[in-house]
Amino acid sequence: MTQQTLVAGIRASGKLHIGHYLGLIKQLLDTQADPNNRCFYFIADLHGITTPFESKELSQNTLDIAATYLSLGIDPNKTTFFLQNHVLEHATLAWIFNCITPLGELYRMTQFKDKVEQQTSGGGKKVSMAGKIGIQISQNKEVANAGLLTYPCLMAADILLYKPSAVPVGEDQVQHVELARLIAKKFNGKFGKIFPEPQTYLRKPLRIMSLQDPTKKMSKTGDEALLLDDTREEIQRKLKKAVTASDASGKASAGVDNLFLLMNSFSPEKTKKYFADKQTEGLLQYSELKQTLADDIYNFFAEFREKKKELLNKPDYLAEILGDGASRARKVAGQTLLEVKQKIGLL
Ligand code: AMP
Repeated sequence: MTQQTLVAGIRASGKLHIGHYLGLIKQLLDTQADPNNRCFYFIADLHGITTPFESKELSQNTLDIAATYLSLGIDPNKTTFFLQNHVLEHATLAWIFNCITPLGELYRMTQFKDKVEQQTSGGGKKVSMAGKIGIQISQNKEVANAGLLTYPCLMAADILLYKPSAVPVGEDQVQHVELARLIAKKFNGKFGKIFPEPQTYLRKPLRIMSLQDPTKKMSKTGDEALLLDDTREEIQRKLKKAVTASDASGKASAGVDNLFLLMNSFSPEKTKKYFADKQTEGLLQYSELKQTLADDIYNFFAEFREKKKELLNKPDYLAEILGDGASRARKVAGQTLLEVKQKIGLL
């Protein structure tokens, strides 16, 4: 059977919650488990610096994310796992793509418009840029940076360097993969065929909802999310407060559905059946369900926590894994970049 190459970028910062685990990481692990897949997973640290960051925290966060993914099961023997900034070909190819991509295509990107708004919220003088598109940039110190605009060219380089057949992405990234396909087509048409036009491999749109407002997706704020690093007490406390009591807005039943969805993923069969029966009989006690679920989620991640602690105590070993991943990635990326340079006439 022919091998399939898959590329995925991982956010370099931010605390991961169980929504990330079920909606993203588990699928990367499943993909890795198929021996027909050749996986390139990288921590997108160059993308990470397009939004405000603290230098002191950047390296610590990156190491934390690397340790998290490795402890959850990313296997460096099966997957080429590396930091984006270690493979210089990403930035070089991104520059070449910058030079063949019309600005108009970049201004169209929904995520660019959203992020500009986030970075410049709080006012500042409004300047109309790019004519009709009417993007507002503020002149305060958080003015949107150029990296935010050219981000999709870097993403196209991230993908196309490995000539993948498919790119597993969340819905929010579909537009960027479409642009990568457009760039591949444009490059091939102008200079000669090098790149495949990769398909989007849309991850199952599983949505884990907020514990506090189960009509919204779980995200990283306050008590609405269960973080992978949470202690048993934190998990218990947050679940105890999870919305299940009846209210008029329908949030209560969405909240209960969400807890059952979590139970389905983290609890043993026997527990699932016990609570499903209780619900059918109308005897379900939310406090009992929440307590059991808290224990099951805590236990599910017990091994992960141990491994992560161990890895973070061995920064040299972590660096060795990332270094090895980068050198394997470089072999493939370097070859592609060489072909690109030859096609466009760069000596
Ligand atoms: P974010 O950190 O919010 O940019 O999320 C990165 C990716 O993680 C998304 O594209 C989703 O695939 C996944 N994800 C994040 N939050 C959730 C959630 N609450 N439920 C399911 N998947 C999620």
